[in-house]
Amino acid sequence: MCDTAGVLGRDHALSGAFAFAALAPAMHVPAGGDLATGIALAAGAGLLPDIDHPDSSVALSFGFLTNAFSWLVEKISGGHRHGTHAVIGVALFTLGALSAAHYQMLAPRAAFSWPLVPAGLYLALLYSAALRALKIGGHHGDLIGIGGAVLTVYTGSDLLTLTSWHVPMLALATALGCVAHIVGDELTHGGCPLLYPVSGHEFHLLPRPLQITTAKVAETYAIFPLLALALALAVWHATGHRI
Ligand SMILES: [Zn+2]
Repeated sequence: MCDTAGVLGRDHALSGAFAFAALAPAMHVPAGGDLATGIALAAGAGLLPDIDHPDSSVALSFGFLTNAFSWLVEKISGGHRHGTHAVIGVALFTLGALSAAHYQMLAPRAAFSWPLVPAGLYLALLYSAALRALKIGGHHGDLIGIGGAVLTVYTGSDLLTLTSWHVPMLALATALGCVAHIVGDELTHGGCPLLYPVSGHEFHLLPRPLQITTAKVAETYAIFPLLALALALAVWHATGHRI
């Protein structure tokens, strides 16, 4: 299934996961649960920009709720592959994640409290979208996503602070996933209007003859296995092994 006119959803999820895993050693992410959380978050965030399309994995995560939200985003952001595929979109997604993380920090552990709710909902969306795009868990994907989100907000592993700026992992994984998504779409014929709404110019990373036509043979038989291999190598490296 094509995740809208852009790259396939599963490839977006894999590229988000790869971006996080590849940078994990530089961000000093401890191997283990924290690394797994970051990779899962970035996989979900890799699908986030396509929330501007009602047929995308992320828009279908929670039925009509996310579908209606996606319809709204599509209207506000200027249509599919506009605002959410630009610098402004990445900045807003990251700011939203940052706010949810900071609010989550106010929650006392081991009990229900309202500050856990925004981050919990956001995490459930990311996990469920990633599972849906990667076709993991089948009909139970959403439940697994919700369970994973509850576990993560209670352990607080999404709040692990990274880089010298002490950015919570939730925000950093969001930014990396979104950037990986846009890079992916920029390899296709469509390109992305990075400066939207100032300019509608579509940026590409490849000259026209090399641009990828989505959902075709190359994407199925070359890009998916390559991304899976790159992710496996990045995880191998991030867990302290030599390549
Ligand atoms: Zn896209």
